[in-house]
Amino acid sequence: MTAVAELMDYADVVERFDPVLGLEVHVELSTKTKMFCGCVNEFGGEPNTKTCPTCLGLPGSLPVVNGKGVEGAIRIGLALNCEIAEWCRFARKNYFYPDQPKNFQTSQYDEPIAFNGYLDVTLDDGEVVRVEIERAHMEEDTGKSLHVGGATGRIHGADYSLLDYNRAGVPLIEIVTKPIEGTGARAPEVARAYVSALRDLLRALDVSDVRMDQGSLRCDANVSLMAKDATEFGTRTETKNVNSLRSVERAVRYEMTRQAAILAGGGSIRQETRHFQEADGTTSGGRVKETAEDYRYFPEPDLVPIAPSREWVEQLRATLPEMPSERRKRIQTEWSLSDEALRDLLNVGAVDLVAATVEAGASPDEARGWWVNTLAQEANSREVELADLPITPAQVAEVIGLVSSGELTNKLAKEVVQGVLAGEGSPREVVEKRGLKVVSDDSALLVAVDEALAAQPDVAEKIRGGKVAAAGAIVGAVMKATKGQADAKRVRELIIERVGS
Ligand code: ADP
Ligand code: MG
Ligand code: ZN
Repeated sequence: MTAVAELMDYADVVERFDPVLGLEVHVELSTKTKMFCGCVNEFGGEPNTKTCPTCLGLPGSLPVVNGKGVEGAIRIGLALNCEIAEWCRFARKNYFYPDQPKNFQTSQYDEPIAFNGYLDVTLDDGEVVRVEIERAHMEEDTGKSLHVGGATGRIHGADYSLLDYNRAGVPLIEIVTKPIEGTGARAPEVARAYVSALRDLLRALDVSDVRMDQGSLRCDANVSLMAKDATEFGTRTETKNVNSLRSVERAVRYEMTRQAAILAGGGSIRQETRHFQEADGTTSGGRVKETAEDYRYFPEPDLVPIAPSREWVEQLRATLPEMPSERRKRIQTEWSLSDEALRDLLNVGAVDLVAATVEAGASPDEARGWWVNTLAQEANSREVELADLPITPAQVAEVIGLVSSGELTNKLAKEVVQGVLAGEGSPREVVEKRGLKVVSDDSALLVAVDEALAAQPDVAEKIRGGKVAAAGAIVGAVMKATKGQADAKRVRELIIERVGS
């Protein structure tokens, strides 16, 4: 049993201490094959079917570097504004763990392929924080252990363990930040926003499927606290494999409150790895952290050094897509958005959807209106991602087109969208099936106008006497009679015409 940790109130933590963060993100590249052998690189599958002598570390097998893996590493480095090494090597990181069949991990040590970069991260309120990148290096993933029989799925208390080496040797890039200082109370938010921005960037680069839930993007969060008057960093803990954006934020916050209570009580922080518990948002102690010396790193003798030519690096630079942050700036200008409007758009995750709707012919304002208001609410109440709603940007553009051509009123358009969401077909099909077309035929409208005027002669009299505002009651009656399928503006014009003549 572990004792329940004492925690300090968060407001007190940030009053007394300055947090320092260090974020290590591991990303699995979605290359066709593994990093040092020809085995297929795919998530899951029957255990131990995607292995060969090399990724199983059998005697006599020799690794060969996957060029696409190096290419991915360089593109990531460039996107993070890093320098790219002219010459670098792989290194052996020696340790025993059953999921690591070679007894060492092929990694990079003091010669990473990319170093000295930065990523600008936008927080929820629009503030931009520059996170400096120390390095991005190449390595390989481990296999997976499955601990069976225990209550927690961890090795402690398990009856036996199973090993699956399908993932062993999958290309992995580790991206390490420099210590992030000065974020104060916003440290947990900065941590989440950084991982989120990095994920967007990696997705734009199309180097990984960045699925935190499947482990293709994983974050270890280092946290330490410094007393307000301290000049040196405090001792850090490293919370491992936090596998959602929300968990990154919670883990950092929890560690801050836990460490602060220990420090305030005169204790000291153990430099250790910790585990994050999704269920209650706490972290628990892991192993005492090894130092680099413990790993006895040495240059990998079975692989030649990597010396990417400057021509190749420049060719790869030319393949970089528009970066998410630049794209946001461009979109803000092109669509003339206020900072606030841009933020709303980002918060509901609608940028791509609105862009696709504009591409399909809608105006940015109208496209935005539908996605940020009606559809975001819909996604919220259904508890799904906006992009997973059963309506496409092309269909939203079609609805917008029907409104601007006068075939639908805004009110009818909402009904059409509901029909599309309910699976009744395309917007046009819903219009047909539900009979939602605007009554644009004046003669049909005039019949309704005449009936309404006849039914409310006093109102007709007021309008005739110059009280044009009174026409509202007649418009309402006509809309009711046409089941909302009339254009209110046109109805009003017809009423005035009728009464005036
Ligand atoms: P390790 O091998 O222990 O994982 P790394 O160098 O890969 O070490 O990563 C350590 C991370 O922690 C880096 O992001 C680094 O900037 C950060 N870091 C270093 N010292 C501290 C500290 N005192 N407090 C918080 N973060 C730190
Ligand atoms: Mg590390
Ligand atoms: Zn293999």
